[in-house]
This record gives sequence, C-alpha cells and structure tokens, in this order.
Amino acid sequence: MRRILLVGAGHAHLAVLRSLAKEALYGARVTLVTPLARQIYSGMLPGVVAGHYGLQESQIDIEALCGRAYVEFAAGRVDALDLQARRASLDDGSKLDYDAVSLNPGSVVESSLPGAERTLAVKPIDEFLAAIDGKRLVRVAIIGAGAAGAELAMALAYRGAAVTLYSDRPTLPGVAGERIALALRRGRVDFRPGMSVSAVEEGPTIIAGPSRQEFDIVIRATGSAAPAWIASSGLMVDGLGFAMVHDTLQSVSHPEVFISGDCATMRDAPHPRSGVYAVRHGESLAVNFRSLVSGKPLEPYLPQARALVLLSCGGRYAIAQRGGWTAEGAWAWRWKDWIDRRWLSSLRG
Ligand SMILES: Cc1cc2nc3c(=O)[nH]c(=O)nc-3n(C[C@H](O)[C@H](O)[C@H](O)COP(=O)(O)OP(=O)(O)OC[C@H]3O[C@@H](n4cnc5c(N)ncnc54)[C@H](O)[C@@H]3O)c2cc1C
Repeated sequence: MRRILLVGAGHAHLAVLRSLAKEALYGARVTLVTPLARQIYSGMLPGVVAGHYGLQESQIDIEALCGRAYVEFAAGRVDALDLQARRASLDDGSKLDYDAVSLNPGSVVESSLPGAERTLAVKPIDEFLAAIDGKRLVRVAIIGAGAAGAELAMALAYRGAAVTLYSDRPTLPGVAGERIALALRRGRVDFRPGMSVSAVEEGPTIIAGPSRQEFDIVIRATGSAAPAWIASSGLMVDGLGFAMVHDTLQSVSHPEVFISGDCATMRDAPHPRSGVYAVRHGESLAVNFRSLVSGKPLEPYLPQARALVLLSCGGRYAIAQRGGWTAEGAWAWRWKDWIDRRWLSSLRG
C-alpha cells in the first residue's frame, strides 16, 4: 500500500486526520483532495446565521490539520473515478493515482423540484453563507422541515427575517417533532406543514397548491441526495445512488475503495446520515488504514444504536433527543455549544 487518497474533508476524514496528527501513519503517502483549505463546521452553521458565532470561530483549517498529520493537501474537486486504472479525475482536468481511495464528499441537496435553480441550497455550506452574507433578508422561504431546515428557519427568524417554512409532511417526524413545532411557533416561523411546494417560479415565487407567494430568497433544504459521480464511476450503489459498503466501510464492489459519511449506505446495518455517525466512521477508518498499511485484517465498524441530536432554536436554546428521550432548554444549547467547540478544538493544534 503506497498511496492512499482521501477525497473530501468531511467529518469522517477530519477524524482520520486528527488521528494521524496524534500518531503519524508511516509506510504510505496520504493525500487529501477537497475544494477548500478552510471550511465552516456544519453543526455551527445555524449559530453563525443567528449571530452567535463569528466565521473564524466556526472554521476548520484543513490545510493546517493536514500539515500536522503529514498528509499532503490538494485543493480540488473530484468529478470521476477510473476504478480500473485506480485514478481520480479532478474538475481542473488533473488526475491523482491511488492504491486505496477513501471517499467522504458528503451529500448534496436534492434538486428535482421544478425551478430548483431559482433557490439557494443549504449545501455547500460555504457557498450558502457567502450568498446570504451581509444581505438584509426580509421575506425568506425554506423548503424542507428536516433538522437543517428547521434550525435555519429559527436562526433566520431570530436574525429578524419573516420566515415561511414549507413541509410536504403533515407533522414533523420523530419523538421530538411536537417540541420542534412548538419551538418554530415560539420563534415566529410561519410553519406550513402538509404544504408541498410544486415549483419555484420567477420572483422567486413559491407555488404550493393553489397559493403563490413571492420571497426575497428561497432556501432549499429538501433532504440528502448522493453526488452523481459516485454511481457514474461504477461503484455499487443503493436505489438512491449512495455507495453500498461492508462493515469495514469498503465498497461492496471495489474493496480498494472506502466510503464514509453521508454518501455511504451500510449494506448490513443501515443507519441515519449525520455528522455524529460520520465521525465514528472516521475513527474506524483511521484504525483500518493503519491495518491496511501493516497488512493486518480490517476491523468492522459497529454503528451505535442511538445518537444524540441537539437542535438549536434560534436563540441560545436547544432541543435534545436521544432514542425515545427528549428535553429542551438553554442548558441544551450550552451542551451543544460545548460539544461543537470541543470538536473544533480537537482539530486545532
Ligand atoms: C445546517 C445543517 C446543520 C447540521 N447540523 C448537524 C448537527 O448538529 N449534528 C449532526 O450530526 N449533523 C448535522 N448536520 C448534518 C451533517 O452536516 C452531515 O450529516 C455531515 O456533514 C455529513 O458529513 P460527511 O462526513 O458525509 O461530509 P461533510 O461534512 O458534508 O463534508 C464533505 C466534504 O467533502 C468535500 N467535497 C464535496 N464534494 C467533493 C468532491 N467532489 N471532491 C472533493 N471533495 C468534495 C466538501 O467540501 C467537504 O469538505 C447538519 C447539516 C446541515 C445542512
């Protein structure tokens, strides 16, 4: 094993880099390719929008972390893999060869809605922030009331915008659904459950059933989709285009390809897509890359049965959920703040 290529600085690869910074990996040349040398941490994005965090505070210096981990940093975006030749192609036309490649490019926002090009997707996060930075947003619509849509709705309302949140579901799912609906109401978000958006027209104007409403900006938080190049490269994928992996996070079709984070589906133990699971993927990858280089057998990753979810509600207030347990309060926001800051400080020198 001479060359390991890491694609994307997702949560999983950040955990790998953190491990390599603690204890270098000898015996392989490791390269990370990702578009940005510095990126905003997604867990803090609602807090940045609400004004609780500055950009610097919520940024990860990936290039510096690579330096500490003895990993070569390459700025770029992979748009194809040649699985036969073991070569990744970047969008600037350059190529990177590998013996093993690990993919952690996250997910993209689902974009099948007619008029999606008139909306602003919540991902890539840095592009989202750049698009709203410094703008006085008065009338904001958000399509999709998952955790990201609900958190951003409350953050933007906290910042003074009149926010309308559309959801095609009649209620918010999950055991914390009722708490989130109440928090939206308290935060003066105009929450419209069961109102499916059929198109976004010029304006931007939202068409939902018989109603038409114009906004300053329409934000798309319509759920996760797989990056198209994963399936088009020839890796085995599930029905939605996410790469199918074994419990070692190796592709079920190509063992020299590892996939982690949002864009992987574990064939035998499917679990939710979230940053919490992605970090655990990374901890498992770090162990397995060391085994790979020293010729030892790889260890399986065992997903945790339940993960803690902390959803911020605009102000310094959050809803907590783990399994069937839910609670809320200012203490929950402080808990989230502590966890997020601890994660970022673990990635800093
Ligand atoms: C507003 C918001 C708030 C969230 N809050 C939470 C939370 O509090 N807790 C939680 O658990 N989850 C949260 N999530 C979900 C969480 O962000 C995702 O589940 C998580 O980011 C997935 O991590 P990942 O490791 O798959 O990749 P990501 O963290 O999404 O990172 C992907 C990386 O790959 C890079 N990349 C993308 N495409 C390419 C390419 N073609 N070539 C090279 N590099 C590429 C990107 O630049 C980035 O560095 C939130 C999501 C949003 C949108």
